[in-house]
Amino acid sequence: EAHKETLGFQTEVKQLLHLMIHSMYSNKEIFLRELISNASDASDKLRFEAIAKPELLEDQPDLAIRISHDETAKTLTIEDKGIGMTRDEVIENLGTIAKSGTAAFMQQLTGDQKKDASLIGQFGVGFYSAFIVADKVEVFTRRAGAAPEEGVRWESAGEGEFTIENVVKPERGTRIVLHLKSAESEFADGWRLRNVVKKYSDHISLPIELPKQHHGDEADKPTEVEWESVNRASALWTRPRTEIKDEEYQEFYKHVAHDFENPLSWSHNKVEGKLEYTSLLYVPGRAPFDLYQREAPRGLKLYVQRVFIMDDAEQFLPLYLRFIKGVVDSNDLSLNVSREILQKDPAIDSMKSALTKRVLDMLEKLAKKEPEKYATFWKAFGSVMKEGPAEDFANREKIAGLLRFASTNQSDDSEVVSLDSYIERMQEGQEKIYYLTGERYNQIKNSPHLEIFRKKNIEVLLMTDRIDEWLMSHLSEYQGKEFVDIARGDLDLGKLEGEEDKQAQEEAAKSKADLVKRVQDVLRDDLEEVRVSHRLTDSPAVLVINEDGMGLQMRKILEATGQ
Ligand code: ADP
Ligand code: MG
Repeated sequence: EAHKETLGFQTEVKQLLHLMIHSMYSNKEIFLRELISNASDASDKLRFEAIAKPELLEDQPDLAIRISHDETAKTLTIEDKGIGMTRDEVIENLGTIAKSGTAAFMQQLTGDQKKDASLIGQFGVGFYSAFIVADKVEVFTRRAGAAPEEGVRWESAGEGEFTIENVVKPERGTRIVLHLKSAESEFADGWRLRNVVKKYSDHISLPIELPKQHHGDEADKPTEVEWESVNRASALWTRPRTEIKDEEYQEFYKHVAHDFENPLSWSHNKVEGKLEYTSLLYVPGRAPFDLYQREAPRGLKLYVQRVFIMDDAEQFLPLYLRFIKGVVDSNDLSLNVSREILQKDPAIDSMKSALTKRVLDMLEKLAKKEPEKYATFWKAFGSVMKEGPAEDFANREKIAGLLRFASTNQSDDSEVVSLDSYIERMQEGQEKIYYLTGERYNQIKNSPHLEIFRKKNIEVLLMTDRIDEWLMSHLSEYQGKEFVDIARGDLDLGKLEGEEDKQAQEEAAKSKADLVKRVQDVLRDDLEEVRVSHRLTDSPAVLVINEDGMGLQMRKILEATGQ
């Protein structure tokens, strides 16, 4: 029997729907991209499952996606022959948002529709974007392999709830019917639809079919609908680079990354030889909301000989490059490859190091050729890149070249100084790269430790990111130049100090010996040692950490974790 029930959306879905309906207005046609993207994903999944169970294809191996409209009823229908959904899957997928951290994300929403619209873009709206143009959405679906009687019909007006019931659905897959709002009836027009579909589907590897348009005399119209494909229907990454337009790369990115905005850069490569594979890697323009969530999905979409195998294959890139999106299509792996196999396969390790190098090269190129875009990249992902030297010892010099810091050469705390530009500005006789860490920029930029450097016009990197001390504990030198924390131990400025400086220091030390002894006696319990210093020009005293002591930030982190 139909077993009809009405269920409430999860709170976060309600919030998302409300926000989307009211804020995505200027960008409403993206709903089609999302629905086509889902239909394509569902077909990919079916093709994958059918490797082990060919019977899932039934007598319908053709996976074209069909889009049609009804001008009088003001409806738009998207139909796929993909994997479909069971009743439970419908409730789970179209009633909740499963991503971890969603509730926390929703709390960041401000109520300011403009700001929220861009936040929501980084979250990804997917299926629910149908409600931007529709005031009622019906979904008819049947899981591949299930009986026709196990079809499911879902319906909602996009407010608080949805209804779900069983229906008979002879064809496998999913049909989505949008009942357009009266103001959106433009989408129930053949030419308009064709344009939008074409724009969003050329990179989709399946044919997207629309009813053939008939010109002139209505009487000529055949009774049987004729379908015609409007896209190229070949996997984008299999085509030669020179034939692919930027817009196509960008649209494909939005499909694989579930992002709304264009990527900053991409790298498309075909590798031949011992291992054969094609990769298409993208640098997104902004961080996803769950960048720092441990369980957040990451990794590339894996294909084997053009057959989709899995999303989020994390074995192909290191953790510090988890923000990279894209696909890798291997000719050597077996179609039965699993996550467990990927973990053990030595061929994957060599692909991982080659892909890592590709990403680092792409970032180097971006920094060199498009510094503004690189600055955007650094703002979004700089803190993640700083995990690199600790995780990827072999590439640490390359990663270090990509790092950006604040420094005394800047008038503000923006991280824009590269180590190469620091080295270019080094003073005559300077052999080391000096840095200072602390909790807040405003506090360290006036630190007494900097006095001697200001006086001698030596640049000092100013590091206030929580991860900076951890980073510096894994970087000892760059381009043969040692890093020196100026708040530690005896500061030896080497050749930067003239003979007179040294003599003056020795004299000062001698003449102040009594004072040092008195201070030492008074503060005996709190300090290890009192020294006469030459690092100050204006302040009378400064606290210094022992050469091998733990940094202040590290101390705080350990204290906070109760150690
Ligand atoms: P995403 O695509 O990012 O996972 P969506 O909101 O677009 O998020 O879709 C949510 C889920 O609903 C999908 O992950 C999928 O499981 C399911 N789904 C949506 N559309 C289809 C479809 N046409 N066929 C099968 N499952 C679908
Ligand atoms: Mg989707």
